[in-house]
Amino acid sequence: MIRNIWAVGRNYADHAKELGNSVPTQPMIFLKAGSCASLAASEIKLPEWSKDVHHEIELALRFDQNLQISDAAVAIDVTERAFQAELKAKGHPWTLAKSFKDSCPLSAFFPVKNLEELKNLNLVLKVNDEVRQNGNTAQMIFSLQTLVDFVLTHFPVTPGDVLLTGTPAGVGAMKSGDILEAEIAGKVRHMWKVV
Ligand code: MG
Repeated sequence: MIRNIWAVGRNYADHAKELGNSVPTQPMIFLKAGSCASLAASEIKLPEWSKDVHHEIELALRFDQNLQISDAAVAIDVTERAFQAELKAKGHPWTLAKSFKDSCPLSAFFPVKNLEELKNLNLVLKVNDEVRQNGNTAQMIFSLQTLVDFVLTHFPVTPGDVLLTGTPAGVGAMKSGDILEAEIAGKVRHMWKVV
């Protein structure tokens, strides 16, 4: 069971820049409820109240019984960008923009021996066969080990919790009928239909 989804904002400089944000000096963590997750599902359902929902492809790590990382997946940090912009402008929390039903679709998990094997992987997101996001985990501002250590130091992480590690540039709108294809090269690939 996924109780908590710890997520990192602005962990790729090119993505921070495209949204007009400064680059953080320590990991900027926000929460998505564990119940936002779907595992290897075929569809992503957009909320009826949403106006402008964006895709953010991310490498997801999962904490095991010993709070070590022993598997990983590709995830979409589904974000309601219109509401997020309003909330950011007011200095309010992002919950409405980030933590709704189906806002954390995950592929199947693949085994990971150590974080080193994840530090130079291409992340590619296609929408209707067109490449929208194409980044590499080597571009992260804070390393995977730094993120894991930071989260374990500051938060009550429980076994099964997921850590979203940030998105590269190229975020954009997803609409009903779109086909999303997310791939971590050599590791995992997953497709969803947006409804
Ligand atoms: Mg994100």
